[in-house]
Amino acid sequence: MSEFLTTVSSAVAWIKGLAGRHELFFPLKHGSANYSFQPAGPSADIQFEKYRPTIVPPVKKMLPARDTLFTFVKSPSGEPTVTPTLDTAPRILAGVRPCDLKGIHLMDTIFENGVADAYYAARRANTAVIAYACPKPCDDRAFCHAVDSLDHRAGADVILTPLKGDDMLVEALTDKGREMLAGVDFPKCADAAARKVGAVAARPEPFGRALGAKVSALPAVIKKQWKSDLWDKHTERCFSCGSCNLVCPTCYCFDVQDDLNLDTTSGHRTRTWDACMLPEFAAVAGGHNFRPNAAARQRHRVKRKFEYLTERFHEGAFCTGCGRCGRQCTAGIDILDIVKDLASAEVES
Ligand code: SF4
Ligand code: SF4
Repeated sequence: MSEFLTTVSSAVAWIKGLAGRHELFFPLKHGSANYSFQPAGPSADIQFEKYRPTIVPPVKKMLPARDTLFTFVKSPSGEPTVTPTLDTAPRILAGVRPCDLKGIHLMDTIFENGVADAYYAARRANTAVIAYACPKPCDDRAFCHAVDSLDHRAGADVILTPLKGDDMLVEALTDKGREMLAGVDFPKCADAAARKVGAVAARPEPFGRALGAKVSALPAVIKKQWKSDLWDKHTERCFSCGSCNLVCPTCYCFDVQDDLNLDTTSGHRTRTWDACMLPEFAAVAGGHNFRPNAAARQRHRVKRKFEYLTERFHEGAFCTGCGRCGRQCTAGIDILDIVKDLASAEVES
């Protein structure tokens, strides 16, 4: 049995203890209002309740903004030697919310599809995840429940569920999770299933914003809206800055660049995040741009989250409802508003 019942303070002490063995990241205050996944040690202010979604989601620990893939050097005879720079350092991501857990799970799906991405895979294999089941919406941007992310569990090694009062249910889901809990003196929990039902029942209803349509219906709905005026309506204020892509836990597009050292015989290859909302993203040789205006780019972004990848991988929406894109958009554009409008236009027609 891998279910335990403890208190919030004991769970925090356990997490802090893990930091002595591996690098451990937890969402900590960053500036006056924001949070970010930062290295957390024994003196870190670990709190589950006070939380606002981090600007950068935790999955990006496996996909950094700038990642050196390999170095290369040419020998005097002209033979190149390529040395991959795989990151295999063990780390723990703790305090991961269900929406971000779903983000990690979807990125696992993408990067393990076909030929696995060795760089993502190396970091993922060496990362343990301690998730925290949310008892309330983190703010009024979140819509995790509407896209079926609120009860997501796949990808976690341990899940913490806050219960009545100061109680905390601790469940190990994997061998990695059981290893992290080996030796703890938490009492076993014999009625974990009933306690989880109680935790779900105690959540507010509705939980966050609603979409007004089933996720499974959206691919067909959105497909019919190719020529809709709604794409223009929802991009009138758009700056095409790409922030909505950069903060999204399910955006993974990147650009690749080789840099040559001054000796002209050695250098390195780097990949950096790219964003489909940027005007030059779909530009090709010869000067043609497949998505020259913001409305076309917004349509692509929405279809990718709710139609293309949904149909390809059968994992539901490729939007976790974390609300980051709406929260960070300077123009206040929110993907839930766009999808809601598209769904109701379908009903009206
Ligand atoms: S963050 Fe907002 S303004 Fe920037 S590209 Fe996205 S929708 Fe447009
Ligand atoms: S599209 Fe927006 S709400 Fe959906 S996962 Fe990305 S950042 Fe979160």
